[in-house]
Amino acid sequence: MSPELRRVLAIFVFVVFAAGSALAQTDARSNANAEPASSGSSTAAKNTPINPKYTTPKSPLDTAYGAKIAEYTTEKYFMTELVDHLPLSDKVPSPEKVLGYAVGTPNKLTYTKDLYRYYRELAKASPRVRVLVAPEKSEEGREQMLVLVSDEENLAKLDRYKEITAKLADPRKVTDAEAQTLISEGKPFYWASGSIHSPETGSPEMLMEMAYRLAVEDSPFIEDIRKNMIIMITPALEVDGRDRMVDLYNYRKANPGKPVPSLLYWGKYVAHDNNRDGLGLALALTRNQMKTFLDYHPTVLHDLHESVPYLYTMTGTGPYNAWLDPLAIDEFQLLAYHEIEEMTKRGVPGVWTHGFYDGWAPNYMLYIATGHNAIGRFYETFGNGGADTRERTLPANQTSRVWYRPNPPFPRVNWSMRNNVNMQQSAILFAMNFVAKEKERFLNNFYLKSKRSIAKAANEGPAAYIIPGDTPRPVEAADMVNLLRLQGVEVHRATKEFSVKDQKYPAGSYIVRMDQPYSRMADMLLDTQYYNVSDPAPYDDTGWTMGAMRNVKTVRVVDKSVLNAPATLLTQDAKVTGQLTGAASAVAYLINHNTDNTLATLRFRLKDVKMSAAEDSFKVGDQQYNTGTFIIKKDGNPADLRARLESAATELGLKAVGVEKLPEVKTHELAVPRIAIVHTWTNTQNEGWYRIEFDKYQIPYTYISDQVIGKTSNLREKFDVLIFPPVGGSAQTIVNGMPKRGDPIPWKASAITPNFGNSPDQTDDMRGGMTVAGVANLQKFIEDGGLFITIGGVSQVPIDYGITTGVSIQQADKLQARGSIYNSTFADRKSPIAYGYDAGLPIYFNQSPLFQVANPNAGQGGGGGGPRASGRGGVNDPDVVQAMPQPRPADPNNRPDPDADLRESPFFVPPQLRPRVVLRFASDEKNLLISGMLAGGNELANKPAIVDVPVGRGHVVMFATNPMWRHQTQGEFFLVFNAALNYDNLSVGRSEGRGRQQPSTADGDDQ
Ligand SMILES: [Zn+2]
Repeated sequence: MSPELRRVLAIFVFVVFAAGSALAQTDARSNANAEPASSGSSTAAKNTPINPKYTTPKSPLDTAYGAKIAEYTTEKYFMTELVDHLPLSDKVPSPEKVLGYAVGTPNKLTYTKDLYRYYRELAKASPRVRVLVAPEKSEEGREQMLVLVSDEENLAKLDRYKEITAKLADPRKVTDAEAQTLISEGKPFYWASGSIHSPETGSPEMLMEMAYRLAVEDSPFIEDIRKNMIIMITPALEVDGRDRMVDLYNYRKANPGKPVPSLLYWGKYVAHDNNRDGLGLALALTRNQMKTFLDYHPTVLHDLHESVPYLYTMTGTGPYNAWLDPLAIDEFQLLAYHEIEEMTKRGVPGVWTHGFYDGWAPNYMLYIATGHNAIGRFYETFGNGGADTRERTLPANQTSRVWYRPNPPFPRVNWSMRNNVNMQQSAILFAMNFVAKEKERFLNNFYLKSKRSIAKAANEGPAAYIIPGDTPRPVEAADMVNLLRLQGVEVHRATKEFSVKDQKYPAGSYIVRMDQPYSRMADMLLDTQYYNVSDPAPYDDTGWTMGAMRNVKTVRVVDKSVLNAPATLLTQDAKVTGQLTGAASAVAYLINHNTDNTLATLRFRLKDVKMSAAEDSFKVGDQQYNTGTFIIKKDGNPADLRARLESAATELGLKAVGVEKLPEVKTHELAVPRIAIVHTWTNTQNEGWYRIEFDKYQIPYTYISDQVIGKTSNLREKFDVLIFPPVGGSAQTIVNGMPKRGDPIPWKASAITPNFGNSPDQTDDMRGGMTVAGVANLQKFIEDGGLFITIGGVSQVPIDYGITTGVSIQQADKLQARGSIYNSTFADRKSPIAYGYDAGLPIYFNQSPLFQVANPNAGQGGGGGGPRASGRGGVNDPDVVQAMPQPRPADPNNRPDPDADLRESPFFVPPQLRPRVVLRFASDEKNLLISGMLAGGNELANKPAIVDVPVGRGHVVMFATNPMWRHQTQGEFFLVFNAALNYDNLSVGRSEGRGRQQPSTADGDDQ
């Protein structure tokens, strides 16, 4: 969660800095026999233990390690008595014994294999530590470790404690009296999760020391935790990114004075957004967290981040997620203020809450807990992006004293990783101790929240959500149901037709009941969202309605009679089995285009099979087939077509229907395009989500950097379709890339950066983008018949560099449309990009870009200027000029030759070369918003969402939306697939005469 930190890293790039010297000298407890008083220093700044007897170990101390703690801590006030020492054990190894250095040693970062080595040694030596492995390996094949630390008696009864929390998680299985017995017997699990964000480097180091301390130390404070609680530790959640980050840090240390990039790849697919996967569960790390949660039902999941100084403990500014039990909100506050109080009592500066993050969207990893009646929380401590000790200067907005930060950080400080370790470890130990001592209170709250989730159907409602069984997109509906199941949500399936009020639902309809433990997660996923624009600026997306984003109809049902519908609980994932029907003598097979994404898989799986697309809708008997329907003729295809098609259709959930007679409809061949997904060397945040989907649907692609575009003059020989997912910045910064100053910056495997070798791409020099040579190569590629798909701001490149004409980007003035879902309408349903879709589609949009097209199609009134001139009458009345001759009102859209006046102009663009608006935002601003926020909607209403611009023999297709966003926009995927499969036939269905060129050579207005 730290755009902050990434900015800091960027600043590193050309800055040489020396590690500051550690200022503090030892005030660690020098030995086991020391009086508690001697652990204090005589200086006023020293933080005196509040209750030394409670926090001082009885056993001997590792004095050498304690001296290092003191040495690496830059100021005494960045220390507490919980972490100013380390207990000594003759049996159990400290991190230093195994790794050769103490936690927080300047310039040392630990690879995951060494983290794991340490935990395995620890578990071998201590009966209080157990090492387990999460269900799935990372995308690069690394293990995800889970460590348990508790008293040996607790670990011996681990299964019993898991059974207790499982029962408390599902109060349908216990009475209140039984629950009370379980609560007094039970132990809460407190789960500390390290470094989901790879440039945030401190927590994996800290957690090793904390595990050792929890296993070994015999102070009453630690014993309270160990005996009353079971600690879960994820050493480094993003294992792949952690290792690349250590590589990057070591590279920097080995190349003093040389420019260093920020961490380009974290996981295989996703960088900072790995903490936005709580809704989609597309990454192994998120699924591991989810499955582990459902196995242990921890009371707290605590995610350790680093960005703002010095310790922000999460509550948030609000608005808070409205689907949560208010008790959950209270618990955030309770825990945060406990930590703040304990740290502030000890004179530790800069511990605060509230003014960072909102608390609204459930897309963060911590919703694994928060969305499931437990407590998900996080810290932002102050990291250094590595393990340096160095001077940090902070801006006023981070150091001002405000109501939520009465004890702010200093404007300038010498900061070390050990400071970070001290802050993180002290605070989380206070939290653990608090929950341990109040274990019955927290277990009871967990039980209560679970119970009230089950009561939701009868109390606040709704009673259920229904996904009707006659959904036109059964494969997508099943995929959505399976995601709900992965979230721990129970889904039922109707065994018979049933009715609620007057509405009938067929057998096979899915029912998500709200009388189940995880009804709140289900409700927040399926409901619509409203974010008031007067609230604090949102931290992230404001709308996420799953049914809308997946284009799967879901019905929110308040009527409780739905709970009596005849239905059985799904005990395994929903699976749509496709089929092939029709006589063996069939001359062709039809697969209705329903935009189920596996239809794209089919095209690539049977790549040697000729398939064509129907250019119009048609009927065979009673069966209606959509425009775009796949028609696969027997003639001209391999002899085993039927068998192969049947096998593929069955597996992919598609219905192939054999027909004796070809339907009478115009068709064109569907391509098997050679696709490249383009990335830059400055940011891979958004394109990784495209790779995830292409891999999931087994659509082959080549992964190339923009530099390859710059160096390849014959792109058309290699590719048919280039997809350039969003990157930030202007057209210039995208084209230029990282400045070409100084030395080359490699991103490739080397002795010191072995893990860069696993990256999806490598280069000798990250500097420089596609350059203007790349722009020229792109133009040639398109003119030679290629398709260039630009997503979001990347559309500036073809616009600003003049590859396209007729489309411009408008700056928003009053529009507030952050990460929301809006209604759109297909403006041109004959475009192949629209194949398979209904007239309207919910689309995800985040603020920009706003396209303007110079030659709008006829009949698309509305938009920025309003539908008519100010005048007499109402909005729909004709304008009548007073007292002058009254000719019949001319309809400018219905002239025999609308371009008659313009044809002689050198700037005249023939109709077939004009931009074609395929999809538009809803024309009425009152009908725009589905979920999220909207102000200034008149700037968005009727704006083009997808524009297809012919250039030479090829096309540029520009998306204002992001159709592959965080594994949430499945309903929009086929817009991309359609464009690709029809790349060489995109002009099909153009209505040439309808568009009228505006009498202007400059970018016109969109009406
Ligand atoms: Zn973070």
